[in-house]
Amino acid sequence: MKIRIVDLLKSDIYGIDVYVRGWVRTHRQSKNISFIALNDGSTVHNLQIVIEHVKFEKNMLKTITTGSAIGIKGKFIRSAGGKQQVEVIAGNIEVYGIADPQEYPLQKKEHSLEYLREIAHLRLRTNTFGAIFRMRHNMAFAIHRYFNERGFFYFNTPIITTSDSEGAGELFEVKTELKDDFFGSPANLTVSGQLEGELGALALGAIYTFSPTFRAENSNTFRHLSEFWMIEPEVAFNDINDNMELAEDFIKYCINYALENAADDIEFLAKMYDEELVDRLKFVVNNEFVRLTYTEGVKILEESGHKFEFPVFWGADLQSEHERFLVEEHFKKPVILTDYPKEIKAFYMKQNDDGKTVRAMDVLFPKIGEIIGGSEREENYEKLAKRIDELGIPMKDMWWYLDTRRFGTVPHSGFGLGFERLVLFVTGMTNIRDVIPFPRTPNNCEF
Ligand code: ATP
Ligand code: MN
Repeated sequence: MKIRIVDLLKSDIYGIDVYVRGWVRTHRQSKNISFIALNDGSTVHNLQIVIEHVKFEKNMLKTITTGSAIGIKGKFIRSAGGKQQVEVIAGNIEVYGIADPQEYPLQKKEHSLEYLREIAHLRLRTNTFGAIFRMRHNMAFAIHRYFNERGFFYFNTPIITTSDSEGAGELFEVKTELKDDFFGSPANLTVSGQLEGELGALALGAIYTFSPTFRAENSNTFRHLSEFWMIEPEVAFNDINDNMELAEDFIKYCINYALENAADDIEFLAKMYDEELVDRLKFVVNNEFVRLTYTEGVKILEESGHKFEFPVFWGADLQSEHERFLVEEHFKKPVILTDYPKEIKAFYMKQNDDGKTVRAMDVLFPKIGEIIGGSEREENYEKLAKRIDELGIPMKDMWWYLDTRRFGTVPHSGFGLGFERLVLFVTGMTNIRDVIPFPRTPNNCEF
């Protein structure tokens, strides 16, 4: 019976014949017998294969080194001793592909994350990256499930766009070798699906996007990528309070999903990298997020007496050190900051009556800082058009967006969750380059 190792390890039907295939993690030889730790990617746990030398050809056995791909047919039994619970006594061995020990880069038992980043094509074969990318899958699945169960429609926004509205300097241009304006006007890779997402929400009621986004910001930090994935729900008739409810409920759901469905991988990652991981996940799930305004937050930071690397004052864009101070030191809870100065937020956010702030909301997390950024949107045509004008955004590019405010406009709200920041959080990893299979950052676009 062909079976994945994850399923086999759950089984308690012993004595049956099984057929497993995977990659050799280690091959320990003793005199008459050897032990292979086999991993097929389905779980962080290896399956022990017992090989009695008399049954097989010596030269063939020698080729089975770390990294080789093999198939084993054999008997699944309860292990006689040692720390293994179960094992397979090999009856037949098939060698698919060898991995020359002189050449194979994953020879050692442990490698630094920095080294593994240089071999992103092979790091997938380590327990660490297996755990991370199974988790990434689990989170993607949880996200689709969450929204589907709540009547949101998955809505696809364009990757190539001609709207340049989110602020200069962050765009990747799209052109062909022969033509600068293949599309008739300058085009770029999208920085966010939100504006088009709003069109969807104002027709379908509640939508979410889940797409790659691209930002050419030259920030080499632990939490920025040039290409990252974003989830952007957008809901007609939601105000900022509904939006905060949604954000909190949504992210708690995802984290709960991880705790319930990826316990083995979490346990492994916690043991290897972050002893406090489980506590931190439970901390978020079990606490109500604190809600306060940017103005109140800045006051707390100013009065804290804490020395920050970047100065903090009303009007300043908060840095991750400020965000983390509020979460980790001051409130010891996740925080949602609202009502930011309009100068540091995007043009589409709903303007408050004070004339100074907009109805923005950022969700701030331990270790990460900002994980979600969102707002209630300005639904009033005049106010929105005036803001677009003030900021010098070419009106001719925005006509389609403004049309939503001319025809059947309604209050609506949404937010963007950086997918990799969520995966960072639930894996306990500390560098965003380690939670996307093939990271793109300034000066790094290999594979
Ligand atoms: P930051 O202040 O951290 O640079 P931002 O305010 O520019 O983020 P938004 O435009 O609000 O980010 O995007 C929504 C979400 O997308 C953020 O809350 C974050 O989770 C994620 N995000 C933004 N930029 C990046 C990036 N370069 N790499 C990975 N995730 C990102
Ligand atoms: Mn933001």
